[in-house]
Amino acid sequence: MADMRLTLLFALCQLPGSLALPLRQEAGGLGQLQWEQAENYLERFYVHNSKRKEANTFETKLKEMQRFFGLPVTGKLNSRVIEIMQKPRCGVPDVAEFSLSPGPSKWPFNIISYRIVSYTSDLPQDVVDEIVAKALSLWSEKTPLKFYRVKSGIADIMISFARGVHGDFYPFDGPGNTLAHAFAPGLGLGGDAHFDKDEHWTDSSSSLGINFLYAATHELGHSLGLGHSSDFDAVMYPTYKTEEKQDFKLAPDDIKGIQKLYGKR
Ligand SMILES: [Zn+2]
Ligand SMILES: [Zn+2]
Repeated sequence: MADMRLTLLFALCQLPGSLALPLRQEAGGLGQLQWEQAENYLERFYVHNSKRKEANTFETKLKEMQRFFGLPVTGKLNSRVIEIMQKPRCGVPDVAEFSLSPGPSKWPFNIISYRIVSYTSDLPQDVVDEIVAKALSLWSEKTPLKFYRVKSGIADIMISFARGVHGDFYPFDGPGNTLAHAFAPGLGLGGDAHFDKDEHWTDSSSSLGINFLYAATHELGHSLGLGHSSDFDAVMYPTYKTEEKQDFKLAPDDIKGIQKLYGKR
């Protein structure tokens, strides 16, 4: 597992130098900062292990991103693309699996343990507990999965709030931008879900801040093996939707995805 992690890290380190910017002159009106943001975004969320050089150019990645988000696939940076790039989102890449081990990303059993290791000071602990249980129930309602909570030791899914560098290779970035990330099923970090402590987390009573139920449902989807969906209505869509209401449900696309992995209830 350590090897896989190193490989991924190595792949990430390789990317910046390979992103040429041949289109810089073609997009008038965009500042240097926006170009840099776009480069960073594509490096982080459109990760390839491919050794083919053309798979890692700025233009190829941008086209891939445009395809993912259902935008015209031009390979050119414009304000609509930038607007999406500036939305708060999940830290898991849209194309590469955030998986530490090869093989299918699902738990080989239906009874899964979880532990809430640390909390945010934005919400009372019992509210966090309730929201995590609610998020898990949204997934277990549609599948044969059962979740049980442990209060000490190692659980399959370890849930924590952390800021900045926090023990994996994916440091958080302060308020905004990346809100959380989670790892596909597996040993060690596998299945774990991390939430950025620097966000302002809220329950359904407030619309200011990030709705923890929504984010937890999304991240726990990754913990169960789901990747990002291009379906705007799906919980597994990568950007955070500010209009999300308290009583949201899984979308048909989410249900299809989870049942493909674990079957129906
Ligand atoms: Zn995600
Ligand atoms: Zn993390």
